[in-house]
Order: sequence, then C-alpha cells, then structure tokens
Amino acid sequence: MTRPQLRIRSDVFRANVDAVQARIAPSTLMLVLKDDAYGHGLAWAVEAASKAGVDWFGSYDIAGGSEVRRVVGGDARIFAWATSTDAEVDDALLHRIDLGVGTAEYLRRIIARVEALGARARVHLKIDTGLHRNGILPEDWADVVSEARAAEAAGLLELEGVWSHIAEASDAEDDEAQAVFLDAVRVVGESGPVPRALHLTASAASWWRPELRGSVSRIGAFCYGIRSADGPDLEGVRPAASLVATVVEVDGDDAVIAIGSFDGLPSTLGGASVGTPGGARVLTAVGQTTSIVDRWPGARVGDEVTLFGAGESGESSATTLAERIDTVGEEILTRLTARVRRVVID
Ligand SMILES: *Cc1c(COP(=O)(O)O)cnc(C)c1O
Repeated sequence: MTRPQLRIRSDVFRANVDAVQARIAPSTLMLVLKDDAYGHGLAWAVEAASKAGVDWFGSYDIAGGSEVRRVVGGDARIFAWATSTDAEVDDALLHRIDLGVGTAEYLRRIIARVEALGARARVHLKIDTGLHRNGILPEDWADVVSEARAAEAAGLLELEGVWSHIAEASDAEDDEAQAVFLDAVRVVGESGPVPRALHLTASAASWWRPELRGSVSRIGAFCYGIRSADGPDLEGVRPAASLVATVVEVDGDDAVIAIGSFDGLPSTLGGASVGTPGGARVLTAVGQTTSIVDRWPGARVGDEVTLFGAGESGESSATTLAERIDTVGEEILTRLTARVRRVVID
C-alpha cells in the first residue's frame, strides 16, 4: 500500500517568504520554526528560507535552535523562547542562540551559566502584555531590566531585544498590549541603548496591522501559506504543502484512498471537499488507514487524491478543512504522523 505524501514546494514557500518580507518591510522577518516548521520539516524550511535571504530564525526550544545552527552555520540569528534547563542554556551559549527571557529566575540562571562557561548571552526580555503566558510583569519590569543592564555592564550578556506575544483576537486588545510593550521599551531606553530587536507581532498582526510591527516580526503560518482561521486569503501567499493519497480500490460509487486517522487525518473531516482528477469531490468517511471519496468518472487504482493544498485539483486549504472542525490550519499539518512521507519539490 502506498503511503500518503506531504508534498512541499520550495518555490511556493520562497514566494510566500518574499511576499511576507515585502509586506512587512522595513520590519525584518524572523521565520518561526516551531513544531518542526509547522510539520514541513525544520531543515528544509531553514535551507529554503536562507536562499530567500532570511537571516532571523525563531525556534521554540533550544534543541530546535541548535538544529537551525547546524543547518545554516555562520552568522544567522536564532531566537529560542522556551524557558529551558541549564544544560540547554549551555547549548544555546555554545551555538550562539539568542534567548527569550520571561522571568527574573531564568535571567539569573542564564547569568550563572554564562559565568560558569565564560561565555556571553544574547538576551531578549519579554514583557507580559496581557496574555499571562510567561513574561515579566510590568510592575517587575524596571527591576529585571536593571539586573540585565548590570550583567551587560559586567560583560556577561548583551540585551539584544524586547519582545512579547499578542492575542490577535481583537484590535482593541492588541492596541492595549502594544501600549504596555512601548512603555517597556521606553523603560529599557532610559537605562541604556534601545535594543535592536523589538518584536511583538506574529503573522496576522504583522500583515494587517502595520502600526503594531516592531523592527522584527516573528512569522510562521503565513510563510508556509497557512492563512488564519476565519481570515481572508493573502495576496501572494499560497499553501506550500499538499497532502496526497493514492486510490487503492474503486468500488461502486466509492474511491478508497490510502490515508486515515492513523496518518493524523482527523476522523471528523468526513463531508469535507477534496481534490481528485475529476475535480472537487466529497470525502465521505475517514477510517483508520483508508478513507472514502465519492467516485469521479474514470476513477482508477493509482489515481491521486489531494486532501488539502493550493487548490489545483479542487482541494481546500488546510485552514478551510480546519474551520470545519473548529481548529486552525497549523493543527491539520502538525498532527500528521510519521506514516506520512514528506517529499520536497524544489
Ligand atoms: C507561534 C508563534 C509565533 C508565530 O505565529 P504565527 O501566527 O504562526 O505567525 C510567533 N511568536 C510566538 C511566541 C509563537 O509562539
């Protein structure tokens, strides 16, 4: 039985990256790579993005950041924002990974590792702008900034950035978050030079709310061509990945395809529209290793059905599938299992 394939087009990805960079300029793109580059494969994404001129990469954890360094080498900037163990911090210092710091405790641990190793850390302090997901509270901000500045004066770290994460749920909340963010930047500026990297926004706010952008924009979804759930299509941005399964049996009105919930296809996707050689057809049932699609004229074993993609054979995007089951496009991609073979088309 043929395994399903996630076909990933480097040219589409690079075009997306170009479109995002053009849209957000003069803000610099930091390509976000969490969840193995949203299921596309971290090494592929880093290589392809480097060719498109990207030189800032955002990995959730330091293990991913170290992998980015192995792929890009050299001077590219890598930012890892998960609060990490001492051993991971050591790796970050070794691989020159910028660290996102959302607590005073983590800052102190980093400084201790810097002293132990005789290294120097690059730190981006995170202000809590309201999400309450790891971040220094505004009332503690000035004290933590002083600690960071003292360590900077001692040659232990460079304060490279100020950052936060916003909900992108409503403009009003995002505006409030930005006001808190700008106040935090002001406090940092009163204690020394303003750091080069000021970053608050992800895909949606970077694209739609230019006034919220900082000098750097952390963007994942839109670079991979994943639009926001309930959001519009984006000019110049298309899905880079398509999920393809093979017909293994044609029986009456059904074409049976070799993909199912064991591959990470949500079993609740029955009723969705998929792409076939005969155009859009309904995915009528999702089983464990096979699923059923309404037959099209001339359907034969070996035909390919596209579960999601850029729409070339009538399929929906991952986000359109996600909207049927109340989730986001990222989730459709990242839950695909190792049974799905990734194939890069350069
Ligand atoms: C996921 C994530 C991003 C990127 O979000 P997208 O909507 O995929 O662009 C940026 N910053 C942080 C902290 C994230 O966790």
